[in-house]
Amino acid sequence: MAARLIDGKAVGAAVRERVREEVAELVAAGERPPALATVLVGEDPASQIYIRNKRKACEEAGIHSLHQGLPADTSEDELLDLVVGLGLDDEVDGILVQLPVPAQIDPDRIVAAIDPAKDVDGLTPVNAGLLAHGMPGLVPCTPSGVMELLRHEGVELEGAEAVVVGRSKLVGVPIARLLLGANATVTICHSRSRDLAAVCSRADVLVAAVGVPRMLGADAVKPGATVIDVGMNRGEDGVCGDVDTDAVLDVAAAITPVPGGVGPMTIAMLLANTLAAARARV
Ligand code: NAP
Repeated sequence: MAARLIDGKAVGAAVRERVREEVAELVAAGERPPALATVLVGEDPASQIYIRNKRKACEEAGIHSLHQGLPADTSEDELLDLVVGLGLDDEVDGILVQLPVPAQIDPDRIVAAIDPAKDVDGLTPVNAGLLAHGMPGLVPCTPSGVMELLRHEGVELEGAEAVVVGRSKLVGVPIARLLLGANATVTICHSRSRDLAAVCSRADVLVAAVGVPRMLGADAVKPGATVIDVGMNRGEDGVCGDVDTDAVLDVAAAITPVPGGVGPMTIAMLLANTLAAARARV
Protein backbone atom coordinates (compact mmCIF):
# COMPACT_ATOMS: atom_id res chain seq x y z
CA MET A 1 0.00 0.00 0.00
CA ALA A 2 1.33 3.46 -0.85
CA ALA A 3 2.52 5.56 2.08
CA ARG A 4 0.29 8.33 3.40
CA LEU A 5 1.60 11.78 2.46
CA ILE A 6 1.80 13.99 5.54
CA ASP A 7 0.22 17.33 4.68
CA GLY A 8 2.50 19.97 6.21
CA LYS A 9 0.59 22.74 4.46
CA ALA A 10 -2.61 21.82 6.31
CA VAL A 11 -0.91 21.28 9.69
CA GLY A 12 1.07 24.52 9.27
CA ALA A 13 -2.10 26.42 8.35
CA ALA A 14 -3.81 25.11 11.51
CA VAL A 15 -0.88 26.30 13.67
CA ARG A 16 -0.97 29.70 11.97
CA GLU A 17 -4.71 30.00 12.53
CA ARG A 18 -4.31 29.10 16.22
CA VAL A 19 -1.61 31.78 16.57
CA ARG A 20 -3.83 34.31 14.77
CA GLU A 21 -6.69 33.62 17.19
CA GLU A 22 -4.44 33.85 20.25
CA VAL A 23 -2.89 37.11 19.04
CA ALA A 24 -6.40 38.52 18.53
CA GLU A 25 -7.30 37.50 22.11
CA LEU A 26 -4.17 39.19 23.44
CA VAL A 27 -4.99 42.39 21.58
CA ALA A 28 -8.64 42.24 22.68
CA ALA A 29 -7.35 42.04 26.26
CA GLY A 30 -5.55 45.36 25.75
CA GLU A 31 -2.01 44.13 25.04
CA ARG A 32 -0.07 45.37 22.04
CA PRO A 33 0.39 42.81 19.24
CA PRO A 34 3.57 40.70 19.43
CA ALA A 35 6.40 42.17 17.35
CA LEU A 36 9.07 40.32 15.38
CA ALA A 37 12.20 42.11 14.17
CA THR A 38 13.89 40.53 11.16
CA VAL A 39 17.41 41.47 10.13
CA LEU A 40 18.95 40.77 6.73
CA VAL A 41 22.52 41.67 5.78
CA GLY A 42 23.11 41.87 2.04
CA GLU A 43 20.85 41.02 -0.85
CA ASP A 44 20.98 37.25 -1.20
CA PRO A 45 17.88 36.48 -3.33
CA ALA A 46 16.91 33.31 -1.42
CA SER A 47 17.23 35.13 1.93
CA GLN A 48 15.12 38.00 0.60
CA ILE A 49 12.35 35.53 -0.30
CA TYR A 50 12.55 33.85 3.13
CA ILE A 51 12.30 37.22 4.89
CA ARG A 52 9.42 38.34 2.69
CA ASN A 53 7.50 35.12 3.41
CA LYS A 54 8.13 35.40 7.15
CA ARG A 55 6.96 39.02 7.25
CA LYS A 56 3.84 38.22 5.24
CA ALA A 57 3.01 35.32 7.57
CA CYS A 58 3.46 37.63 10.58
CA GLU A 59 1.08 40.19 9.15
CA GLU A 60 -1.54 37.52 8.42
CA ALA A 61 -1.31 36.37 12.04
CA GLY A 62 -1.63 39.93 13.41
CA ILE A 63 2.04 39.96 14.50
CA HIS A 64 3.78 43.28 13.98
CA SER A 65 6.76 42.88 11.69
CA LEU A 66 9.74 45.26 11.73
CA HIS A 67 12.58 44.84 9.30
CA GLN A 68 16.16 46.05 9.16
CA GLY A 69 17.95 45.57 5.83
CA LEU A 70 21.67 46.25 6.05
CA PRO A 71 24.23 46.58 3.23
CA ALA A 72 26.41 43.56 2.40
CA ASP A 73 29.53 45.36 3.70
CA THR A 74 28.09 45.83 7.22
CA SER A 75 30.74 45.10 9.85
CA GLU A 76 30.35 42.54 12.62
CA ASP A 77 30.35 45.32 15.25
CA GLU A 78 27.60 47.23 13.44
CA LEU A 79 25.42 44.13 13.32
CA LEU A 80 26.21 43.34 16.96
CA ASP A 81 25.12 46.86 17.99
CA LEU A 82 21.85 46.43 16.12
CA VAL A 83 21.11 43.03 17.64
CA VAL A 84 21.93 44.21 21.18
CA GLY A 85 19.74 47.30 20.61
CA LEU A 86 16.79 45.14 19.52
CA GLY A 87 17.29 43.09 22.68
CA LEU A 88 16.88 46.24 24.77
CA ASP A 89 13.88 47.52 22.78
CA ASP A 90 10.69 46.96 24.79
CA GLU A 91 8.58 47.06 21.63
CA VAL A 92 10.34 43.99 20.18
CA ASP A 93 9.42 40.46 21.29
CA GLY A 94 11.32 38.35 18.75
CA ILE A 95 14.61 38.81 16.87
CA LEU A 96 15.52 36.85 13.76
CA VAL A 97 18.83 37.39 11.99
CA GLN A 98 18.58 35.70 8.60
CA LEU A 99 21.50 33.35 8.04
CA PRO A 100 23.90 33.06 6.30
CA VAL A 101 25.57 36.40 6.98
CA PRO A 102 28.40 37.74 4.76
CA ALA A 103 31.87 36.26 5.32
CA GLN A 104 33.24 39.21 7.35
CA ILE A 105 30.71 38.44 10.12
CA ASP A 106 30.99 35.54 12.58
CA PRO A 107 27.44 34.14 12.81
CA ASP A 108 28.11 32.49 16.19
CA ARG A 109 29.04 35.85 17.74
CA ILE A 110 25.89 37.46 16.37
CA VAL A 111 23.59 34.65 17.48
CA ALA A 112 25.14 34.65 20.96
CA ALA A 113 24.33 38.38 21.26
CA ILE A 114 20.59 37.85 20.72
CA ASP A 115 18.57 38.24 23.93
CA PRO A 116 17.62 34.58 24.70
CA ALA A 117 14.10 35.69 25.67
CA LYS A 118 13.65 37.03 22.11
CA ASP A 119 15.54 34.24 20.33
CA VAL A 120 12.63 32.97 18.23
CA ASP A 121 14.99 30.83 16.11
CA GLY A 122 16.09 29.04 19.31
CA LEU A 123 19.73 29.21 18.25
CA THR A 124 21.43 31.03 21.14
CA PRO A 125 23.70 28.95 23.37
CA VAL A 126 21.24 29.62 26.23
CA ASN A 127 18.24 28.12 24.41
CA ALA A 128 20.34 25.28 22.96
CA GLY A 129 21.51 24.54 26.51
CA LEU A 130 17.98 24.61 27.91
CA LEU A 131 16.91 22.16 25.19
CA ALA A 132 19.93 19.94 25.88
CA HIS A 133 18.91 19.87 29.55
CA GLY A 134 15.28 19.16 28.69
CA MET A 135 14.23 22.51 30.17
CA PRO A 136 11.66 24.94 28.73
CA GLY A 137 13.00 27.54 26.31
CA LEU A 138 12.60 28.70 22.73
CA VAL A 139 13.09 25.71 20.42
CA PRO A 140 14.34 26.02 16.79
CA CYS A 141 11.42 26.30 14.37
CA THR A 142 12.07 23.42 11.95
CA PRO A 143 12.64 20.84 14.73
CA SER A 144 9.54 21.92 16.63
CA GLY A 145 7.64 21.78 13.32
CA VAL A 146 8.79 18.17 12.86
CA MET A 147 7.50 17.29 16.34
CA GLU A 148 4.19 19.02 15.59
CA LEU A 149 3.81 16.89 12.44
CA LEU A 150 4.56 13.69 14.38
CA ARG A 151 2.04 14.71 17.07
CA HIS A 152 -0.56 15.51 14.46
CA GLU A 153 -0.01 12.13 12.78
CA GLY A 154 -0.37 10.38 16.13
CA VAL A 155 3.01 8.66 15.74
CA GLU A 156 3.90 6.68 18.87
CA LEU A 157 7.34 7.91 19.96
CA GLU A 158 7.67 6.34 23.40
CA GLY A 159 10.11 3.44 23.06
CA ALA A 160 10.25 3.84 19.27
CA GLU A 161 13.54 3.58 17.37
CA ALA A 162 14.23 7.01 15.86
CA VAL A 163 17.12 7.70 13.52
CA VAL A 164 18.08 11.27 12.61
CA VAL A 165 20.46 11.71 9.68
CA GLY A 166 22.27 15.04 10.11
CA ARG A 167 23.76 16.67 13.22
CA SER A 168 23.52 20.39 12.52
CA LYS A 169 22.86 22.82 15.37
CA LEU A 170 19.87 24.16 13.46
CA VAL A 171 18.12 20.90 12.58
CA GLY A 172 19.59 17.46 13.33
CA VAL A 173 20.73 17.87 16.93
CA PRO A 174 17.62 19.69 18.22
CA ILE A 175 15.33 17.18 16.49
CA ALA A 176 17.24 14.33 18.13
CA ARG A 177 16.95 16.03 21.54
CA LEU A 178 13.21 16.55 21.11
CA LEU A 179 12.72 12.90 20.09
CA LEU A 180 14.72 11.84 23.16
CA GLY A 181 12.48 14.06 25.28
CA ALA A 182 9.52 12.15 23.84
CA ASN A 183 11.18 8.92 25.07
CA ALA A 184 12.25 7.57 21.67
CA THR A 185 15.50 5.60 21.41
CA VAL A 186 17.52 7.99 19.27
CA THR A 187 20.47 7.42 16.94
CA ILE A 188 22.14 10.35 15.17
CA CYS A 189 23.93 9.66 11.87
CA HIS A 190 26.28 11.98 9.97
CA SER A 191 28.78 12.00 7.14
CA ARG A 192 31.15 9.59 8.93
CA SER A 193 28.48 7.06 9.89
CA ARG A 194 29.12 3.54 8.58
CA ASP A 195 26.38 1.41 6.99
CA LEU A 196 23.98 4.36 6.87
CA ALA A 197 21.17 2.49 5.13
CA ALA A 198 21.41 -0.39 7.62
CA VAL A 199 21.19 1.97 10.61
CA CYS A 200 18.32 3.92 9.03
CA SER A 201 16.41 0.75 8.25
CA ARG A 202 16.05 0.08 12.02
CA ALA A 203 14.01 3.25 12.42
CA ASP A 204 10.33 3.40 13.24
CA VAL A 205 10.76 7.14 12.72
CA LEU A 206 13.38 8.25 10.21
CA VAL A 207 14.29 11.94 9.96
CA ALA A 208 16.50 13.06 7.07
CA ALA A 209 18.19 16.47 7.49
CA VAL A 210 21.19 16.17 5.23
CA GLY A 211 21.07 18.37 2.12
CA VAL A 212 21.88 15.62 -0.41
CA PRO A 213 19.15 15.14 -3.03
CA ARG A 214 17.25 11.82 -2.75
CA MET A 215 20.11 10.24 -0.80
CA LEU A 216 17.99 7.78 1.19
CA GLY A 217 16.24 5.06 -0.81
CA ALA A 218 14.02 2.09 -0.08
CA ASP A 219 16.90 0.12 1.50
CA ALA A 220 17.11 2.78 4.24
CA VAL A 221 13.47 2.51 5.25
CA LYS A 222 11.87 -0.05 7.55
CA PRO A 223 8.50 -1.30 6.31
CA GLY A 224 5.79 0.72 8.06
CA ALA A 225 8.14 3.53 9.15
CA THR A 226 7.24 7.21 9.37
CA VAL A 227 9.68 9.22 7.27
CA ILE A 228 10.22 12.94 7.83
CA ASP A 229 12.19 14.54 5.02
CA VAL A 230 13.59 17.90 6.11
CA GLY A 231 15.81 18.24 3.02
CA MET A 232 15.22 21.16 0.65
CA ASN A 233 17.46 20.72 -2.35
CA ARG A 234 17.02 23.03 -5.31
CA GLY A 235 17.87 21.56 -8.69
CA GLU A 236 16.97 22.08 -12.32
CA ASP A 237 13.78 20.05 -11.89
CA GLY A 238 12.64 22.06 -8.83
CA VAL A 239 12.93 21.26 -5.13
CA CYS A 240 13.46 17.75 -3.78
CA GLY A 241 14.20 16.23 -0.40
CA ASP A 242 16.90 13.97 0.99
CA VAL A 243 14.67 10.92 0.55
CA ASP A 244 13.86 9.29 -2.77
CA THR A 245 10.13 9.64 -2.15
CA ASP A 246 8.97 7.58 -5.14
CA ALA A 247 11.23 4.68 -4.18
CA VAL A 248 10.07 4.76 -0.56
CA LEU A 249 6.32 5.11 -1.13
CA ASP A 250 5.74 1.35 -1.16
CA VAL A 251 7.75 0.77 2.03
CA ALA A 252 6.95 3.56 4.47
CA ALA A 253 3.61 4.01 6.25
CA ALA A 254 3.78 7.80 6.01
CA ILE A 255 6.15 10.36 4.53
CA THR A 256 6.40 14.15 4.28
CA PRO A 257 6.47 15.33 0.65
CA VAL A 258 8.97 17.93 -0.54
CA PRO A 259 7.73 20.57 -1.02
CA GLY A 260 4.65 20.72 1.20
CA GLY A 261 5.86 18.68 4.19
CA VAL A 262 8.26 20.14 6.75
CA GLY A 263 8.77 23.45 4.90
CA PRO A 264 5.41 25.04 5.76
CA MET A 265 5.90 24.10 9.42
CA THR A 266 9.00 26.25 9.85
CA ILE A 267 7.26 29.59 9.36
CA ALA A 268 4.25 28.41 11.37
CA MET A 269 6.48 27.58 14.36
CA LEU A 270 8.28 30.93 14.00
CA LEU A 271 4.92 32.62 14.56
CA ALA A 272 4.20 30.32 17.51
CA ASN A 273 7.62 31.13 19.02
CA THR A 274 7.07 34.88 18.57
CA LEU A 275 3.73 34.64 20.36
CA ALA A 276 5.30 32.55 23.14
CA ALA A 277 8.15 35.07 23.52
CA ALA A 278 5.66 37.95 23.70
CA ARG A 279 3.53 36.11 26.29
CA ALA A 280 6.58 35.38 28.43
CA ARG A 281 7.42 39.11 28.48
CA VAL A 282 3.92 40.37 29.40
P1 NAP B 1 23.97 21.16 7.32
O1 NAP B 1 24.28 22.13 8.39
O2 NAP B 1 24.74 21.19 6.05
O3 NAP B 1 24.10 19.70 7.96
C1 NAP B 1 24.00 18.57 7.17
C2 NAP B 1 24.25 17.34 8.00
O4 NAP B 1 24.15 16.20 7.14
C3 NAP B 1 25.63 17.29 8.65
O5 NAP B 1 25.51 16.87 9.99
C4 NAP B 1 26.40 16.29 7.80
O6 NAP B 1 27.32 15.50 8.53
C5 NAP B 1 25.29 15.38 7.33
N1 NAP B 1 25.67 14.74 6.06
C6 NAP B 1 26.12 15.33 4.93
N2 NAP B 1 26.35 14.39 3.98
C7 NAP B 1 26.05 13.21 4.52
C8 NAP B 1 26.09 11.89 4.05
N3 NAP B 1 26.49 11.60 2.81
N4 NAP B 1 25.68 10.90 4.88
C9 NAP B 1 25.25 11.18 6.11
N5 NAP B 1 25.19 12.42 6.64
C10 NAP B 1 25.59 13.42 5.84
O7 NAP B 1 22.45 21.24 6.88
P2 NAP B 1 21.13 21.63 7.73
O8 NAP B 1 21.09 23.11 7.94
O9 NAP B 1 21.00 20.73 8.91
O10 NAP B 1 20.00 21.28 6.66
C11 NAP B 1 19.81 19.97 6.21
C12 NAP B 1 18.78 19.96 5.09
O11 NAP B 1 17.55 20.47 5.61
C13 NAP B 1 19.12 20.88 3.90
O12 NAP B 1 18.61 20.30 2.72
C14 NAP B 1 18.35 22.16 4.22
O13 NAP B 1 18.03 22.89 3.05
C15 NAP B 1 17.11 21.57 4.84
N6 NAP B 1 16.40 22.51 5.72
C16 NAP B 1 15.06 22.61 5.52
C17 NAP B 1 14.33 23.42 6.34
C18 NAP B 1 12.86 23.50 6.13
O14 NAP B 1 12.23 24.43 6.60
N7 NAP B 1 12.28 22.51 5.46
C19 NAP B 1 14.94 24.17 7.36
C20 NAP B 1 16.30 24.02 7.55
C21 NAP B 1 17.03 23.17 6.72
P3 NAP B 1 28.66 16.13 9.19
O15 NAP B 1 28.21 16.82 10.43
O16 NAP B 1 29.49 14.93 9.46
O17 NAP B 1 29.25 17.06 8.18
